[in-house]
Amino acid sequence: MLFKSLHRGVLLTLTLLVFLLLAACGPKSSGSIVKGKVNVITTFYPIYEFASEIGGDDINAINLLPVGVEPHDWTPRSQDIINTSKAQLFLYNGAGLEGWVPNFLKSLDSDSKVQATQVSKGVDYIMSDEEDGHDHGGEGEAGGEVSTDTLHTDPHTWVSPKSALIMAKNIKESLQSVDPSHKDGYEERYNKLAERLETLDRKFTLELTKLPNHEIVVSHQAFAYLARDYGLTQHAIMGLSADAEPRSQDLLKLADLVKKKGIRYIFFEELVSDKLAKTLAGEAGVSTMVLNPVEGLTEAQEKNGDNYFTLMEKNLQNLILALQ
Ligand code: ZN
Repeated sequence: MLFKSLHRGVLLTLTLLVFLLLAACGPKSSGSIVKGKVNVITTFYPIYEFASEIGGDDINAINLLPVGVEPHDWTPRSQDIINTSKAQLFLYNGAGLEGWVPNFLKSLDSDSKVQATQVSKGVDYIMSDEEDGHDHGGEGEAGGEVSTDTLHTDPHTWVSPKSALIMAKNIKESLQSVDPSHKDGYEERYNKLAERLETLDRKFTLELTKLPNHEIVVSHQAFAYLARDYGLTQHAIMGLSADAEPRSQDLLKLADLVKKKGIRYIFFEELVSDKLAKTLAGEAGVSTMVLNPVEGLTEAQEKNGDNYFTLMEKNLQNLILALQ
């Protein structure tokens, strides 16, 4: 009897402690584990949005990446390991976006039943041969040193609606595999999402193919899939990671190219400083405009109800303005 009540007291204290710890840690991932629901952990925004759309009320989706943070240099915290250990499904992009995933999966509780799915599998990956001397931050290389002839997989698959369609299908199938009793619901909601993605894909094809210009200059090299699928050529100031510093001779070369080709806008993105885009635009005597790689929402975008579709629509409108 004494033992039992003591045990209960300890449990209560522990529970309280966990709550206090959770409260003290401040804003992080979007939500917590809900018992009795299919808990789905996603690594960053587009996967979170697609999983939420397809999962509907049958799942509880938790996004690891906080609002206003870009994914390249982010790494998970201990609370993320605790949540993921208790979840049924862990959805990550793969293709080198989240270099921390292998170690993260190893650190989960040994009795965790979570299924991990690489959402970008099946996409025809683009390899990128970035030049030596750039620091790739969180891309997974020890020490940030990259040799001249190392090929990197470009992780930015979701930026093209065509690969986003493949990703949505992978998400649907993994939901159906961990929760077969709601198979039809997942199918139905996936079909709706796929229809919207197909409409977006058609719009990009229709609008971009009729424009006279097809060369874009962007700050962060995040648009290779979009470029490949819709006939654009991407020139990037920085590498695959968003924070790599370009060399001054690269900037001068780009400024030359901008002048020679009559390019009128340099694209930048909101989650990263626009300093380099502004510098290049100043050098070349042109303006800047936003092209969003949809790696996350800013706080303003979240409040505004923006999502993958509204941001991609804005991208399309800006591309039309810049390339006509
Ligand atoms: Zn990126």
